[in-house]
Amino acid sequence: MDDLYRQLIIERYKTPHYRGHLDPHDIFFEDDNPVCGDHIEITVRTDENDIVTEAAFDGHGCSISQAAADLLIEYIHGKNIEEVKTLTKDDVVDLLGIDLGPVRLKCALLSLKVLKAGAYGLSVDEVSDELVE
Ligand code: ZN
Repeated sequence: MDDLYRQLIIERYKTPHYRGHLDPHDIFFEDDNPVCGDHIEITVRTDENDIVTEAAFDGHGCSISQAAADLLIEYIHGKNIEEVKTLTKDDVVDLLGIDLGPVRLKCALLSLKVLKAGAYGLSVDEVSDELVE
């Protein structure tokens, strides 16, 4: 693992920039990664053009899951919800800047899964790993 990125992940895990819960919000979703015990909830506010004006995450779990959520929330500020729907696994991996094995990848992708499920307005039963491929 690249030391610079490892540092970024630890820093974002310890002092996240976007931890919180927005109330009121336009988008809300939450889900777990049972393999690791990670939990992420995401709240998003959008303007009349569906641009993300504010977003936040809350939850608990390993450093990868929490750091990925913080970086992802930062990344979507100012983006259109249609753009958010097209984000992929590669975007999250780029944000983290490290190569991840399959177990860690699930941790990293939990926030993207939650975000996209919220953006698409899915119910809990409709969420699948295909969302983040
Ligand atoms: Zn995890």
